[in-house]
Formats: sequence, structure tokens, C-alpha cells
Amino acid sequence: METNLKTYTVGEVCKGFVYNELEGKGLYGLAGRLTIQPEYQRNYIYADGKKDVAVVQSALHRYPLGVFYFNKTDENRWEVLDGQQRITSLGRFVTGKLSIIDENGIPHYFSSLSTEQQQRILNTKLLVYECEGTEDEIRKWFETVNIAGVPLNPQELLNAVYSGEFVTLAKQEFSNSGNAHVQKWSAYITGAVNRQDYLERALQWVSHDDVKGYMSLHRHDSDIDELKRHFNSVIDWIGSVFSDVESEMRGLEWGRLYDTYHTQPYDPQEVSQLVHQLYGDPYVKNRKGIFEYILGGCQDKRLLDIRIFDEATKRAVYRRQTSEAIANDTSNCPLCAMGHEANRKKIWKQTEMDADHVTAWSKGGTTTIENCQMLCKTHNRAKGNR
Ligand SMILES: [Zn+2]
Repeated sequence: METNLKTYTVGEVCKGFVYNELEGKGLYGLAGRLTIQPEYQRNYIYADGKKDVAVVQSALHRYPLGVFYFNKTDENRWEVLDGQQRITSLGRFVTGKLSIIDENGIPHYFSSLSTEQQQRILNTKLLVYECEGTEDEIRKWFETVNIAGVPLNPQELLNAVYSGEFVTLAKQEFSNSGNAHVQKWSAYITGAVNRQDYLERALQWVSHDDVKGYMSLHRHDSDIDELKRHFNSVIDWIGSVFSDVESEMRGLEWGRLYDTYHTQPYDPQEVSQLVHQLYGDPYVKNRKGIFEYILGGCQDKRLLDIRIFDEATKRAVYRRQTSEAIANDTSNCPLCAMGHEANRKKIWKQTEMDADHVTAWSKGGTTTIENCQMLCKTHNRAKGNR
């Protein structure tokens, strides 16, 4: 990656400054050659009458304004990587959109300053690192530069690296809290719309978790049809299988569940009954697992993290079984005792045995002492696999 250290004056950077009042964004500078607020940047957050004014005061008092980072995007074109808040504050002041208050409480716009003060601001030198490199280099560099303030999260970084029409369109759809669908989506997706969590999810789903590869491939696309279609298919599918909306549905790996199960038929009424039954089951510890458990045909009980027998129960059952077995000269594993092998009379240690539901949990058996038996590990495993 190439890096050049350059100096621009405030006057040069603010030439042709455009501020979008509606979006609260500084848009262009350097006579149109500098994009101040690229798509991936957060909105202008200095407009609080303190931070923005402090920047102008710094220029007036010749305090250092810090270093700026520009990313060269084309011949004679740049984007601000770091410093957009400061540049926007200066630009707003120079174009009369921001005033500073003097010690007597009187507001001063740029036009009301003395010529000497105006020149001092316009001639303030800004120290700028201009960089040019591959997407990967810029991403790494950006990660390093982006250490102050609220750091960009991984998706914001990817938006920066692959900025373009595709990202712009995708953000309009998935990063826009004004989108009327967000309410519905939020039943299944966690995170914040404006921190790109929904966009990240949509990209993960369509790309089967290769967000970077997908963004690289589609960077220059002029539509997001596939992204939208896949996302909506997943959302619609969830709603068609699960008619209830439970809070534990938020943040599940719906993209993976869709890929695995969307070709299978489900009866929504039956599914709804199962959901209610499992929600009412005190032995289900992991409610988040209920949905995948049902999708997979109620096979994988591990997903539900069924409550297991506690140590006191296991010890009591072991003692009872063992003393009865010794009295009857048989094995303390009831299944060994029924067999004809060498273990028919074997007394196992407790550490060699596991607790088992006499009536299986899936058939309504409870996790109570009355429904507990100790089996040798081999028999317990064999039973669990049935
Ligand atoms: Zn046994």
C-alpha cells in the first residue's frame, strides 16, 4: 500500500462543501473531488454545539487539528476515512451553517469574522495521509486507524471495503430503521438496524456465511434482487412453519435452518401444538432449541438440554438397587441381570453407571426419583440410542 503525507488548507478542503441538512451529512469537498461522508460512515455526530464549535475554535486559535486520512478511490478522487466529523464542522462553519459564541455570548458566523480571522481559518493547514491500495490492505489499515471513538464492527468495515452501488442499495433496504418491515424482522433477528446487524444477517443467509466473498462478487451489481429474495424467503418460511412468535426465536441461525429444512413439509397446527407442549415442559432447559428440535422431527433431544437427575437422586437409586442386587445375588444393573453374559451378577461401582429415565422423557417420563434407574454405562448408551 502506498501512503503519501500531504497538506491541504481548510480553504481547499472546504471548496465546494455541500452539507445535507436532512441526512445530517457533509457530502463533498476539494471542489467535488473529496467524498466526505462515504456510505459506510456514520452520520455527522459533532453537531452538538460543543464538539463542532471546538473544531472551529481550534483553527482560530491555531491549535493542532490532528491527522486526517483519505483513501484514494480514483485518479484525483478521495474518500475521507478518518476526519469526516472535523471536516464537516469546518465546512459548516465556512458555509455559514454553524456559528461560534464569543465570551460575551454573541454568535459569530464566518461572514461576521474579521478578514484576518477568516483568512486564519481558511489557511489552517490540515495534515492528510493519502493512501492507495488493495481492498484487503485498506481494510487492515482502516481497522488500525479506526481505534478512536466507536469502532466500526466487522460488517461496517466490509461496507467500507466494498462500498459502491450494491452496498448503497443493500443499506437502503436492511440498514434503514424507517423500513416498515423491520418490526416483523425483529421477531427473528437480534441487533441494531443502524449498526448493520440486519444487513449482516441477510448477507450471511444468502451467502451461506461467506459474506466477504459474496460482497466481493456482487460489489458492482446495480440491484440487490437475489439478496432480497433469499432474505424474504427465509422470513416467510419461518412464519409459515411457526405460526407463533416466541421471544426465543430471536437470533437463531435461521439461514442454516432454512437451508437444512425448507424442503420438508410441516403441519403448522401440529408444529404449534408441539411448541406449546415443549414450552410447558419443565424439563426442557433450552427453549431456544425447541424450534430446531421440531424441524428435525423431534429426534435430537440434546437440543433441548433436558434436565438431568441430580446427584442425590442418583446416589439414592444406586444404593437401593445395589443392596437389592446383593440380597438377590444378581447384578445391580437391571439389564445386565436379565442377560446371560458374564456380567449377570456384576456389581458395578456408581462411577461405572449412569442415570436413565425408566419411561423415556420423550414419552412423558419425568425426571424424578420414581422414574430413575441406574444402568451400567454400556446399557445406558444402548438404550439412549434407541
Ligand atoms: Zn448393564
